[in-house]
Formats: sequence, C-alpha cells, structure tokens
Amino acid sequence: MAPVIPRKAPAECVHDVLGIGFGPSNLALAIAIDEHNRSRPGDAALDAVFIEKQSRFGWHRGMLIDDATMQVSFLKDLVTMRDPTSAHSFVAYLHDRGRLVDFMNHKTLFPLRIEFHDYLEWSAGRMSHLVEYGGEVVDVQPVREDEVVWAFDVTVREPGREPIVRRARNLVVAIGLELRMPPGIERSARIWHSRDFLRHVEELADGPRPGRFVVIGAGQSAAEVTGYLHREFPEAEVCAVFSRYGYSPADDSPFANRIFDPEAVDLYYDAPPAAKRMLLDYHRNTNYSVVDTELIEELYRRSYQEKVTGRERLRILHTCKVLGVRHGDGAVLTTLESLATGERSELESDAVIFATGYRPVCPLGVLGQARSLCATGDGGMVCIRRDYRIATTCATRAAIYLQGATEHTHGIGSTLLSNTAVRAGEILDSVLRHDPQRSDGSLVYAGEQA
Ligand code: NAP
Repeated sequence: MAPVIPRKAPAECVHDVLGIGFGPSNLALAIAIDEHNRSRPGDAALDAVFIEKQSRFGWHRGMLIDDATMQVSFLKDLVTMRDPTSAHSFVAYLHDRGRLVDFMNHKTLFPLRIEFHDYLEWSAGRMSHLVEYGGEVVDVQPVREDEVVWAFDVTVREPGREPIVRRARNLVVAIGLELRMPPGIERSARIWHSRDFLRHVEELADGPRPGRFVVIGAGQSAAEVTGYLHREFPEAEVCAVFSRYGYSPADDSPFANRIFDPEAVDLYYDAPPAAKRMLLDYHRNTNYSVVDTELIEELYRRSYQEKVTGRERLRILHTCKVLGVRHGDGAVLTTLESLATGERSELESDAVIFATGYRPVCPLGVLGQARSLCATGDGGMVCIRRDYRIATTCATRAAIYLQGATEHTHGIGSTLLSNTAVRAGEILDSVLRHDPQRSDGSLVYAGEQA
C-alpha cells in the first residue's frame, strides 16, 4: 500500500498521536488512523507514529503451538467490529493469501493461532509506514504553555544510537501484559514461564532427550503446554500440577459471552464498585484458570488410553501446591504439598514450566515524569475515562490514552482481542473530538481529583 504523506516536515513535527507499543491494540489503532487519513487526506490527516521495543512484530510467539486455535471468533479481528467493510479484516487477509474458500469449507470461527498471528503480521506489514521497531520509550515529559500541558516530549532509545525526543499531543500506551511467577521463583534454563515455551523447547534439541516435565497451572496455557509436551516427547513423563481437582471448562456459552460485547463496556464502566467486583467474580471463568472443553476431553482421552495400555506418562497431580523449586544435579527439583493431606513430595524433572498467567503492565512505569499528571484512585490504580483517556490532576490540552490495563474500569474484555477494533475507533474519535487543530483550540481537559 502507498504510504500517506505526513502533513508536517520531520524537523517541525508535533505528532498528533504517538503510540507506545505495537501489539494488536495499537496496530488496530494504526489501521483506524490510516483509514481516516486515506478518507480525509491533507490537513485533516493525523500524523501518527508508533514505537515498538521488539525488532519486528510479534504476539505471544512463545505459545504459537502448531495445533492451538484462537478462542475468539475471527470476526473479532482488528477492524470488523468497527467497520465490516474495512480492507484490513481477517477475511481480506484470507483472500490475499488465496485461502478464503478453503477457510470457508473448514466451517470454523476459530482459526489456528499461527494463522491469526500471520494475519496480524500481514496487517502490521501494511502499517509499516507508521511504526518504528527497536525503540524503547525511556521518558515522557509534559510540555506546558501558560500552565496548561499541551504536548509530551517522549524520549526514545534505540540500540547503538543517541536517544531522540519526539513531541506529541496524544499518547496511546498499549504495552501489553507481563508474566506472573510465584513469589521467590526465578526463571532459568530449566525453570520456564509458558510465555517463552517454544523458545526453550527449541533449545532442548541440542541436549539429551528429556525424561520428565512438570507443568504448573490449570489454565489454557498449562493445558496446551501439557498436551504439546506429551505429544512431542513420547518417552517423557508429563506431570500436570495444580490446586484444583481437575481442569475446568471455559464458559463460552452465548449469554455469558456477551460480557465481551461493546455494550458490556458501557454497563461495566458506569456500575458501582460492588457490581463491578460481582461481574468479574461471576464471569471469571470465561477467561481465567479455565480450558477449552475440547482440549480437556483430549487430555482425558489420552490419560484414559494410558490407563488401559498400562504406561501412564500423563500424570495429573491435582489438589497440590508448589512449595519451592531448586536446581539439582542436571535437573530441577520441585517440592509439592498436597492441599488435602499436607503430605510433601519432591519431583525431579528436566524442566518446570510455570503456566501461571499474566498481569497488565502498569502504565505509570513508562510515563516517566508525566506519571505525576495521572490521577490515581483505590489501590493506586490509574483513573481512566470512558474514552480510555487517563484522568489528569491538572489542566491539560494533551491526552494520554490507555489500552489493555483497564480491567478495573472497562471490564474483563480489556486485555483480550474482543473489543480491540471498537476501542481503537473510540480512541480515534476522542482524539479527533479534542484536537485543538480541528476544534477552536480552546478545549482544555480540567484537572480532576480521583
Ligand atoms: P490463567 O488463565 O491466568 O491461568 C493461570 C494458572 O496458573 C491458574 O491455574 C492458576 O491457578 C495458576 N497459578 C497462578 N499463580 C500460581 C502459583 N503461585 N502457584 C501455582 N499455580 C498458580 O493464565 P493462562 O492459562 O496463561 O491464560 C491467560 C490468557 O491467555 C487467557 O485469556 C487465555 O484464554 C489466553 N490463552 C489463549 C490461548 C489460545 O488462544 N489458544 C492459549 C493460551 C492462553 P489458580 O486458578 O488456582 O489461581
């Protein structure tokens, strides 16, 4: 695709939008901005740039297990829920790859994860004129005029080069999730988190064939890792360790699934804290610590088959907690305690995989000196307006938007793909509504208390 020419020369450039991070959320925003620019070229076009730390686009590469499928419909791609006629849909991608009719014959809403990742890379490639890879944002400073913050100076560090400062009127922070390990347990060559799973598996090719793996957790990642290791290492024992009695199915039934709809965001946003907590508790099992039913049944089928044949390699160590992990002689030793009897045991294995989930990265960390502008509420959580703008403690004409780390304000779909397309459109609308270049220039966000 031909790039849209930015409307300002680089030397005098004040970006309208600077995105920090370029995963699916900011990729969806880049597409929304690009489509806006193509429909209104010239002065109405927005000057946008996205800064991404990775050297190329990638989304949970370490869990692109060959037979794993998406858990959301392909219709919840980067654009369709915002604009079903967009040229950046998963259907447009299939057409471009020459697989549209084959996909239709497959009769599924849930493509392989590797295929959806290829769609995301395809989309990111078409937005390459808006993104700079290999740059890390190390500071953000507010720029004031008459006490009003009207822009931010963003310092970006690139390996082997002097840091550069980019000025922007709107920042959109979308820095994803960070892995969660149990307190006191450090990752190593034998102690992995599921995020890096396939990279570590590749490293095993150089060593002796493993005899045993231990997988901690009972969520989708844990079940997929367990299934993969059991299939790919036919000599190895795979011990699945978790505190539940058995894997629990993800609730993807249609009424419950509506918790991920755009309307649910409105309802959740306006609900009082007690109702918010209640909704999260009721519907936790749509997303957290749960497994796709088909995969549960497949693991059970294998386990039963092994009972019949008498060679049990897939061991389910339920009702157990991990007390600690330590390195032994060429192995790793995991100490377990039964939650039922208190009995302790030690398991020796070649590797332990913690599939213990993720947490959103706090946006304040990346905002440097601008963090003092951000209003915070209960538990130090950032206050976020319905349009995903972080509330500020002083008057400002500039804005910081947040994608992802908004479960406390916008609900359980925040970290997922479900609302990515619609949210990108809402953020773009908000930027256009509040842009002094496009309005009479008098619009100022009042400073507000949490
Ligand atoms: P998760 O659903 O948060 O599950 C984490 C698991 O780790 C839970 O079983 C939890 O047990 C356990 N755990 C947490 N802390 C622990 C500790 N200190 N000691 C022992 N166990 C601990 O994480 P996930 O499975 O990585 O899934 C995260 C998200 O990624 C979900 O949205 C999931 O759907 C998605 N995902 C999607 C795919 C796919 O599309 N194919 C694949 C993988 C993941 P408790 O419940 O007892 O806390």
